[in-house]
Amino acid sequence: MPTKKTPTKTASKAPAKKVTSAAPAKKTTKKATPKKSDAGTPLSVVIRRRIEAQKARFHANDNISKFIQPGELEGLVDEVAEKMQAVLESLVIDTESDHNTKNTSQRVAKMFVKEVFSGRYIEQPTLTKFPNVSRLNELMIIGPITVRSACSHHLCPIMGRIWIGVLPSKESALIGLSKYSRLTEWVMCRPQIQEEAVVELADMLEKKIKPIGVAIVMDADHFCMQWRGVKDRDSKMVNSVMRGAFLKDSNLRREFLSLLDKR
Ligand SMILES: [Zn+2]
Repeated sequence: MPTKKTPTKTASKAPAKKVTSAAPAKKTTKKATPKKSDAGTPLSVVIRRRIEAQKARFHANDNISKFIQPGELEGLVDEVAEKMQAVLESLVIDTESDHNTKNTSQRVAKMFVKEVFSGRYIEQPTLTKFPNVSRLNELMIIGPITVRSACSHHLCPIMGRIWIGVLPSKESALIGLSKYSRLTEWVMCRPQIQEEAVVELADMLEKKIKPIGVAIVMDADHFCMQWRGVKDRDSKMVNSVMRGAFLKDSNLRREFLSLLDKR
């Protein structure tokens, strides 16, 4: 049974670290040491400084696209590849003779930045909204939408499905059906934990659609329990978020849950 989850949003803001050199200037030096420029600084550090200057959060499941300038993603792929190569070397893998692992670092870097974690680096997909002209206020269910994500603890895949229930108000702005998938994909393509992912998606839908109620059920296989750890192949995690009318009206909630095609 899906459990009700009270929406909690922790916005823990760690104080931005500011490195100010407080070393007293030596009387003997004639010139001040030249200010360290960005040249030679890893791109990740440059981006990180921009984020910290705005006191923004950059957890694994945060989107940091507004701090990345055009063209920088390629540079980020190169930096990750270089560090991934060091990981392979530390794993004592002969990437020179082993043709299978020769370009693995580059492939993995590209996969992380451009594919499986792209939801951190690219902007939110544009959601064309249209007015609820027919004044629909009936339950809509969208799903199952395929979910591909990864846990932030081990970076192991999370593969599953999501169902979204929306009870629009007559004043709600509706979004096209395909946009639910695109928004879900954008949120899921980040390392995270399932409980937080569904809450984030619900927050976004509430903000965009302003419905009377929104409900989400996610059902997923966690590879960190199947590939490693307890190696329980059948364990799944199901969780849900109920907002507004879905929280208050048990009949509506029951209707939504009964209509999910959970085969
Ligand atoms: Zn894990």
